[in-house]
Amino acid sequence: MIKLHDKYFKPFISAQQINDALGRMANDIAQDVGDEIPVFIGILNGSFMVVSDFVKKFPKPCEVTFIKLASYEGVKSTEDIQRLIGLTQDLTGRTVIVLEDIIDSGNTLAEVHRIFKNEKVKTLKIATLFYKPEAYKKDFKLHYIGIEIPNKFIVGFGLDYNGLGRNIPEVYQIKETQHMTNFVLFGPPGAGKGTQAEFLKQKYNLVHISTGDVFRYNIKNETALGMLAKSYMDKGDLVPDKVTIDMLNAEVEKNADANGFIFDGFPRTNAQAQALDRLMDSKDSQINAMIALEVEDEILVERLLKRGKTSGRPDDADKSIIRNRITEYYNKTAILRDYYSTQNKYFGVDGVGSIEEITQRLSAVIDAL
Ligand code: AMP
Repeated sequence: MIKLHDKYFKPFISAQQINDALGRMANDIAQDVGDEIPVFIGILNGSFMVVSDFVKKFPKPCEVTFIKLASYEGVKSTEDIQRLIGLTQDLTGRTVIVLEDIIDSGNTLAEVHRIFKNEKVKTLKIATLFYKPEAYKKDFKLHYIGIEIPNKFIVGFGLDYNGLGRNIPEVYQIKETQHMTNFVLFGPPGAGKGTQAEFLKQKYNLVHISTGDVFRYNIKNETALGMLAKSYMDKGDLVPDKVTIDMLNAEVEKNADANGFIFDGFPRTNAQAQALDRLMDSKDSQINAMIALEVEDEILVERLLKRGKTSGRPDDADKSIIRNRITEYYNKTAILRDYYSTQNKYFGVDGVGSIEEITQRLSAVIDAL
């Protein structure tokens, strides 16, 4: 991953892939021009690397020149194209091939066609290393295309973000999400995850997702999901993975532009941990840590029975259901400690003390991430 100005970018197209694409284009064009000596026209600034690498691969005599247009501001292609350096030689009767680094909206290409409207060239063809079909809004034919790419901002190999990145020999794509901090707040039922999450989400401006809370909300509103989850929750058993994972995906999607997430009550199984990694990966992000509140069983039972007097939660009211939830935690959930430990992402925190003390202990871990 790289950072240019305020934005993060991830590796997208390797130098080798670019090299191969330019090689194919050079061969195709060489065949098509026959005995003509083509004039290659690079569009500055972006195309300087494309032109340089392309002409080195072109196996026949050719001429090379440039025109200079400017269209990008930040990460957006603008309508307003400035012609900074125009044509400086007579191209009457010549085979002209425009070499572009990238064609997205096609605005620059429209300006190129305007420039050539009154030139009496023999043929005018367009070649581009990168092409964004989803962004292209014009009808001009593109004769040679190196690599088709999705409509996401890229840098490198001549392409810049506000001046930076042109010198990178491969291509990077802007990250789906910018820099997120995501952690799993872990621990047995009654460890204080919900209480602490409330403080931490304020302090670090994060979105708190408690799967237990989402299930309870659905039960209260008698949704299909709530009805499905209720039978499991009432006994203190885990809701099936498929149901829980789909629900979590939907919650993350709803908050895709967050600074990060506190996951509370998720993951509880290995399958859920893997699903969470995949989900974060699809957002170009990751889980930074699992932070576990460690509290002895007897204290947990005491805390939960006390909470049951006011929370109205049926699973807090009965000692044997509480014991079952704690057993579920140790049987199915505590193994996740290994999952995150092997990635050096597990941090245990003493969960006994005042609320403020525990918040401080958790903050110390988060600040060090
Ligand atoms: P909690 O509020 O985290 O104590 O969760 C209450 C109940 O919701 C649990 O005992 C489970 O029945 C269900 N639940 C919450 N999160 C999950 C999860 N990640 N996987 C399966 N079941 C869950």
